[in-house]
Amino acid sequence: MVRFQTVNQELEKKVRIRTAKLKLLASLDGLTHLSNRRQFDQHLEHEWNRAKRHQYPLSLILCDVDYFKDFNDAYGHQAGDECLKAVAGVLKNTIRRSGELAARYGGEEFAIILPNVDSEGGGQVAQQIREEIHRLRIPHEASPVKPYLTMSMGIATVVPDDCCSTDGVIKTADQALYCAKEQGRDRVKKVTGIPSFGPQG
Ligand code: GH3
Ligand code: MG
Ligand code: MG
Repeated sequence: MVRFQTVNQELEKKVRIRTAKLKLLASLDGLTHLSNRRQFDQHLEHEWNRAKRHQYPLSLILCDVDYFKDFNDAYGHQAGDECLKAVAGVLKNTIRRSGELAARYGGEEFAIILPNVDSEGGGQVAQQIREEIHRLRIPHEASPVKPYLTMSMGIATVVPDDCCSTDGVIKTADQALYCAKEQGRDRVKKVTGIPSFGPQG
């Protein structure tokens, strides 16, 4: 009887470990091992609600590798994959505090959630990432910006209230990123608050 109970406990433990592993796998991006888009969406919603309750700012950084299609064309898709892994490594090292999250947003785009970080703090994190990407010195001869890999970034910083949503903060960071691209790439653009985009903010 005792032996039967022990076997049962061991089996339960194995199932628990297997379930935890599967859950972790389902939240990660296969190539970079950063959080995937699904995990990003859930985490942003969670941190947004916390920031709203405590009335502190939340900064969201969207990053996009510059001229990445040309990188693939020049060096091959596999080198492109290695490059994305190196970029992910930089982002992983940047995330230090609890609640912060770096995710692969899609393709060559990444996102960083920084709860309780104001616009100045968000700007400092983004500049640090930009410099670390420079320091990798990944050759990119096809880029009109620099002969090595660079990234553009848009930051939105918001103290959440009832008039705005996570969609609004993503849209705002995306517009800031668009400005960074338009103004020559390899730069950081910040927006504080959410400009009016219509009823859903
Ligand atoms: P921009 O400076 O305007 O951002 O130009 P871009 O070339 O970086 O942007 P565009 O959207 O034109 O191209 C993105 C490229 O990213 C095209 C696509 O093949 C590549 N890409 C997306 N996901 C992956 C991936 O997982 N691996 C590799 N190697 N390439 C990818
Ligand atoms: Mg892109
Ligand atoms: Mg790009």
